[in-house]
Amino acid sequence: MEKNYKFWFCTGSQDLYGATCLKNVSEHSRIIVNELNKSGNLPFEVILKPTLITNELIRKTFNEANLDENCAGIITWMHTFSPAKAWILGLKEYRKPLLHLHTQFNEEIPYDTIDMDFMNENQSAHGDREYGHIVTRMGIERKVVVGHFSDKNVQKRIADYMITSVGVIESSKIRVMRIADNMRNVAVTEGDKVEAQIKFGWEVDAYPINEIVEVVNSVSTSDINILVDEYYSLYNILLEGRDEKEFRKHVSVQAAIEIGFERFLKEKNYHAICTHFGDLGALKQLPGLAMQRLMQKGYGFGGEGDWKTAAMVRLMKVMTEGKKDAKGTSFMEDYTYNLTKGKEGILQAHMLEVCPTVADGAISIKVNPLSMGNKEDPARLVFTSKEGIGVATSLIDLGNRFRLLINTVDCKKVEKEMPKLPVATAFWTPRPDLYTGAEAWILAGGAHHTAFTYDLTAEQIGDWAEAMNIESLFIDENTTIHNLKNEMKWNSVFYK
Ligand code: MN
Repeated sequence: MEKNYKFWFCTGSQDLYGATCLKNVSEHSRIIVNELNKSGNLPFEVILKPTLITNELIRKTFNEANLDENCAGIITWMHTFSPAKAWILGLKEYRKPLLHLHTQFNEEIPYDTIDMDFMNENQSAHGDREYGHIVTRMGIERKVVVGHFSDKNVQKRIADYMITSVGVIESSKIRVMRIADNMRNVAVTEGDKVEAQIKFGWEVDAYPINEIVEVVNSVSTSDINILVDEYYSLYNILLEGRDEKEFRKHVSVQAAIEIGFERFLKEKNYHAICTHFGDLGALKQLPGLAMQRLMQKGYGFGGEGDWKTAAMVRLMKVMTEGKKDAKGTSFMEDYTYNLTKGKEGILQAHMLEVCPTVADGAISIKVNPLSMGNKEDPARLVFTSKEGIGVATSLIDLGNRFRLLINTVDCKKVEKEMPKLPVATAFWTPRPDLYTGAEAWILAGGAHHTAFTYDLTAEQIGDWAEAMNIESLFIDENTTIHNLKNEMKWNSVFYK
C-alpha cells in the first residue's frame, strides 16, 4: 500500500477586521501547521492552505481535496468569525474525512494587554461555534478535537484521527478473496456482500479452491526450500518425537501454500482471504503456518468463509501499518473460559490461524493433527500473545443493517503453560468484566470470530463505523446491561 497521505489545514476567517488581521491569521496558521509537523506526534504531514474567506474559494478547495489522491482529509479551524453560510456548498460537495480542530493561537489570555482588537482577531471560541453549527445542521460526520495545538494530548487525538481517516479512505480499496463458501449452516459469518460494498466499498469474490491449488503446485522446489530455510532460521522447531525429515516435509507444504497463495492474491489484487477447513480441494493441508505468515504480511484473514472478519482484519492492518511500537493485529476466535473467581477470561485461538504480530517472545513450529477432516497434519506457528489493552471487534449483519461491536479487552498471561495445546493463543478479560462483557456481547449478537488489535483504540474504530454510517456498539468500562439494551432499542429505530 502507498501511504503518502497528507492532511490539508484550512483556516476560516473573514475580511471584516482588515488586512492586518488577515495577515496575522495566515501567519498564525503557518506557525500552527509548522508546530504540528515538527512535533513528531503526527503520522502524516499537514499541508497549509490559503485562508478561506469566500464561498468560492471554500468550494474550490474542498473539491480539490476530493480529487487529490494523496489528501486523506481536511482539518478546519476558524481563527476568527467565519460566517458559516460560506461553507455550505463546499461542505456539501466534500466527500473525505473532516476534522474540526477547535484550537486557538494563544494558550493563555494575555491579561495585561488584551483589548478589543485582540478579541476580534482571536475568537475561535466564537467562530468555531458558528462553523460547528452548520456542520451539525447539515448532518456531516466529523471529529472535533479541542485544546491548544501544542498539547500532546491534542496532537495524539489528531494523530488517531489521521489513522482513522486513512481507514476510511482505504476501506474502499479492500478486496476479499473467498476460497470455498461459508461453512455450512453457520449463521453469524454470513451477510449481504452487496450491502457491504455499498457501505464499506469492499469487493468480495469467490474462487474455486483447485484454481489456487494449481498455483501452489507450480511453486518450484528451490523456492520452497529457500522459504523453509527461512522458517527454520526464524522459529523454534518442536519435533515432539516426529521424524525430522517427515516434519520438514509437512513444513514444506505450508511454504508452498504461502508462496502459491501470495502469488495468486497478488496477481488478482486481493488483500484479504477466507479459507474453510472443510473444503480444501486438492490442498494437502489446511493453510496454517502459511496463513499466519500472510496475515503477518498485512493480508486480512477470516476462517470458514468469514469475509466480514477478513475485511476487518485487513482494514486494521492497513490502519496500523508502520505504527511505531505496534503490538499486533489478528483474526481471533473465542474458545473457552476461565471462570475461576478473580481470574476470569477467555482463551482465544483458532484452529491454526493466529497472526504472529501479536506474539510475545519466541515462536515455534509444531506439526499436529487437525482432528477435523482427513488431510495431512498441518504445520503451524505456536506462541502466546502480548499483555495490554486491545480491542476485539465483530461486524455482524442483522438483516436490515450492519452492527459493529467494539469491546475493549485486557490481554493477560494465562497462569500456567499449556504444553498439550498446539495452537497460538491469546487470553483476555473483556471490559467491564467477563460476566457483563460476555452477556453484552451475546445480547448484541456478536460472533465467535473477531478482528482484534492492540494498536487502535475503540474510539478510532467507532469513528470509522460512524464514517461508514453503520451502527457501532461499545462494550467497555462504562457498559451496563440496562443501558446497552436501551441503546440497542434506540438504534433499531434510528437505523431502520
Ligand atoms: Mn472459526
